[in-house]
Amino acid sequence: MPELPEVETVRAGLAPALTNAVITAVEVLDARSLKRHQGGVEDFKATMVGSKILAVVRRGKFLWLPLELPSGRSGFHQIAMVGHLGMSGQMLLRTPGFTDDKLTRVIVKATAEDGEEIEFRFVDQRIFGSLAIDELIPTADGLPGGFSDGLEIGIDGKLNWWVNLIPASAAHITRDPLDQHFDQKFVLDKFKKKNSGIKRVLLDQQTLSGIGNIYADEALWRSKLHYDQPASSLSSAQARDLLAHVREILAKAVAEGGTSFDEQYKNVNGESGYFAVSLNAYGMTGTPCKRCGTLIKRDSWMNRGSHFCPKCQKLKG
Ligand SMILES: [Zn+2]
Repeated sequence: MPELPEVETVRAGLAPALTNAVITAVEVLDARSLKRHQGGVEDFKATMVGSKILAVVRRGKFLWLPLELPSGRSGFHQIAMVGHLGMSGQMLLRTPGFTDDKLTRVIVKATAEDGEEIEFRFVDQRIFGSLAIDELIPTADGLPGGFSDGLEIGIDGKLNWWVNLIPASAAHITRDPLDQHFDQKFVLDKFKKKNSGIKRVLLDQQTLSGIGNIYADEALWRSKLHYDQPASSLSSAQARDLLAHVREILAKAVAEGGTSFDEQYKNVNGESGYFAVSLNAYGMTGTPCKRCGTLIKRDSWMNRGSHFCPKCQKLKG
């Protein structure tokens, strides 16, 4: 399942090609990938074709493309195409005629700013991911909706109209720990109020976004915390230390382009498995803990697994 670093790698790969590209055609090969689009397939196509993509923005694991509708088009103007990769989604950039990608669900054809014809292909094996057009609404804190890496300021030197907006469907997603406007105090306060296990809280997108199983296990290992330790039992120092480790691990993984442990994950060129983030806990079952030598254990946990060192990460009463 793609996590924040993988989604950021996709965003960074798409942005140079798609920014200021004009959509020329949309092919929907499987309408299930548009299940979150309210208006149905024809409405999705009619809105997309002729529109200009202004940026590729991300918050947590949500990506969106603010759209500029062709002049004269009536209707609501502050909209974006929102994409979510779900469990197995991929967003690939291709030139027309490039070998068909198996399990392609939607193809968006566009003319890039430099005149080149390109295709954005949404590939999804299990169809948990989706594309949809959504309204952009003001952010609750009045700050930028997501990360767009320098596209916030227009050529006129002013903030672009879409910057402080967020798709309505992503508005409930809290800021991720790499967001420069991440509200650490909000998260620490939430920890204090939650009696559920700290890993469950780390994965709760309404507490903080962008952390999945891999990075949660890694951050807990570094922080010497058991996955089931009640969040409310952490001292302030432990909680701050944990968030620092989360941030450090995510930043390292973004810098390296994601992990190589997700076979589903591909960058926009369709390449996978070329990253080398070294992991200490996740997927390391039966290998010695790099701190104390005890064998890393895997417990079944919420239909998945939790990897931890039984000696360094004891559940404390
Ligand atoms: Zn250990």
